[in-house]
This record gives sequence, structure tokens and C-alpha cells, in this order.
Amino acid sequence: MVDPKKISRRKFLARSAGALAGAYLGFSIPKYLSYGFAHAGTFPGHRMRYRELGKTGLKMPEVGFGGYPARDPAVVEYAIDQGMTYFDTSDDYTNGVSESTIGEGTKRRRDEVVITTKWHPWSNTRADEMLRTLDTSLKRLQTDHVDFLLVHQIGKASGGESIERLENSELFKAIETAKKQGKVRFTGASGHDGDLMEVMNYAIEIPIIDLILCRYSFMDYPAEPDLFRRAKEKGVAVVAMKTLAGARGENLAPFKSKHATYKQAALKWVLSNQDISGLIISISSPEQVDEYKLASGPVLTTADSALLAGYADRFGSQHCRMCNECEPSCPHDLKIADTLRYSMYFHHYKGMQEEAGRLYANLPSNAKADACLSCAAPCQENCSYGVNIKREMGRARRGLSGAWI
Ligand code: SF4
Ligand code: SF4
Repeated sequence: MVDPKKISRRKFLARSAGALAGAYLGFSIPKYLSYGFAHAGTFPGHRMRYRELGKTGLKMPEVGFGGYPARDPAVVEYAIDQGMTYFDTSDDYTNGVSESTIGEGTKRRRDEVVITTKWHPWSNTRADEMLRTLDTSLKRLQTDHVDFLLVHQIGKASGGESIERLENSELFKAIETAKKQGKVRFTGASGHDGDLMEVMNYAIEIPIIDLILCRYSFMDYPAEPDLFRRAKEKGVAVVAMKTLAGARGENLAPFKSKHATYKQAALKWVLSNQDISGLIISISSPEQVDEYKLASGPVLTTADSALLAGYADRFGSQHCRMCNECEPSCPHDLKIADTLRYSMYFHHYKGMQEEAGRLYANLPSNAKADACLSCAAPCQENCSYGVNIKREMGRARRGLSGAWI
């Protein structure tokens, strides 16, 4: 397996697209997957494909609905019509608007969909607090149960604790009660910090963990396929998120082939790993449903791989992989990965500007990117991915401060 931190851009580009898809991108792609079967940007008669969700007996569409930016129940209903029947949300997304929108859009078709929401057990540490949060979520979702309840965003950079969150006896007490009450069918864990592998390797050993939700894209962490393979062997479902390596919504015109957009190619790359059950991608419009659904079915082609290579070359130094490796070198203790993630929401997620500004405003005043203005940027030496941190923090500051303050 090739570590993308160690491969040079020149070597990366020198590889053929087919070989590159397998080597740089982290696992081997059978030769037959590299040829043919490309689908067009529009594909009449397209049908979503579904995969098993571990040992739960449930299935999910290969492309699921990421509900963070959801605002319009009609878009939710349209997604169901298109076979996108897996919905992911959280109690803390957009002050509850995400859950309410998904609830309104699914209430008449509850039997057709799988709904996942999440808890934050670092802000609610007692079982009674967690159960109250769940009741609020169920009310917004207009249902008496969720199919999956995930312990949200486990990682050292998210709340200062990591695996400790999965060792809290109050959490297990709350889950047991919620299951007895019929409010939760299955449970799992989500994360995206630098200690993701440590967290998820621990999580898949816990008997009540039925699903893990992990960041995974062609530019991030090729060690993950090994985790996913072992999770599958244990009957734990794997759902991928943050699959677009930056979710860039602009300057993508050059990254389109006759058969696929950049985003379709990136999603197809994720789905070519058969150990995952599916992926979620943030959706706020019917156009996004139409674009993303087409990633289900046809396989990754050489043309797709070439698109991804071009994107990596153009945007690799702007894309933070959220590994947190640079943060100890920052004299101001800035949360660099979080700030750049909020910036990604602001600049590239449709309809997420206000939410991104809210998240940034919640950072302590001495942890804002203003500190970068007069800093010699020692962080720069510690990013193995070559992200121009000072420049990207400046872009974050300009966008996020203007959005909220
Ligand atoms: S440039 Fe910003 S993020 Fe980098 S070390 Fe300086 S203050 Fe920290
Ligand atoms: S800027 Fe680089 S080192 Fe810092 S969290 Fe992002 S990818 Fe990791």
C-alpha cells in the first residue's frame, strides 16, 4: 500500500490512471473495473443499488443522504423517490433544522427509510441527559424510533476526549434503556479526527457497535481499508463520509469527463471498496440528488481516475485531511483542522454559510485565525500533505468572520 504522504506529485502523475487508482488510492482495483461501463452524466432508467448494513438485516443505498445542510422537506421526498433511502443527521446540526427537515420529509414514508441520528456524549455525560436529547431528536424527526444512534464525532480534537467517550458507563446505560423503550434499533460511532483509526479499531470490538461512520476519500488515509475489512468480518457496517476530499463547489469545470463529473468519480472511488455499506454526502438540492445518485452502479474507470488525479494535483495543497498533526506546533493552540473544516463548510457546502459561521463563532476568542496574521507559521513544517496552512487559515478567517460577526 502506498502512503500518499510519501508519494511525490511527479511520481503520482506519472502513473497510469488505472494503476494510480489502485496504488495511490489505497487498494487494488481489478483490471476489469478500470475499463468500460462508464455512465453518462444523465442516465435514463438508472436504479440505485443497495448493500447490507452489517449484520443488522437492514440495507442502505450505495449513496445515502447526508442531512447536515437539509432545509427543504421536498428535497428529502425527492431523494426517497430516487432510491436514496438512508438519511443521516444529528441532534446538533443547524440547531435542529436538519432533523426537523428530515422528519417532515420522511414522516409519510417512514417504513421506506433508514434514519440515523447522533449524540454528543461530551456535552451530555449522564444517561438521563442523553435520553432527553434522544426524545428531542425523535420529536423533530416525527418518529417513535431511529434505526441507528451514533456516538458522535469521537476524537481527541473533538471535545478533548477520545476512546474515553466509549468507556462511559452512563452511555451504555442510556443505550440499553433507549433500546428497551424501542426508541433505538442499532448503535454506532462516528469520527473524523487524527486518531480515527485508534478510535474505530477500538469501537468495532464493542458488541453494541453495529455501524461506524468514518471519513474516507481518495485523498485521505489509505490505512482505512484494513479497518473496513475487519469491521465487515465482524458484521459491523461501515458508512463513509467526507468523500469528496474538500467538497469543492467551484472551479470544477475542468474536472469533468464525457462520462462523469468529478464528484461522481470521487463517489465511485469510495464505492469501489466493497467492504463499505455505502456513503453519505451532504445534500440540499434536487440537482445534487440527480448528480450523486448516478455514482451508484457503474464502476470506476480510467477516465474517472484521471479526473481524481487532476483534482489531487490542483487542490491537494488546499485540502486539510483533519489529521491534527500540525496543531501541537501552533504557539496559539489554534484548532487548525476544525477551522479549516468550518471553512470548507462555508466555502463549498451549499447553504451552510450560516452554520459554518456559528461553529466558528463558538470557538474561544483567543482561538480564532486572527492570530495567523502576525505569525511566522511554524505549523507549516508539520503538515505532511503540504497544505498551505497560513493561506488557508486566512481564507477561513475572511469568510467565517464576515459571515457571522
Ligand atoms: S500560522 Fe496560524 S495556525 Fe499556523 S502556527 Fe501561526 S497561528 Fe498557528
Ligand atoms: S493542515 Fe495538514 S497537518 Fe494540519 S490537520 Fe490539516 S492535513 Fe493535518
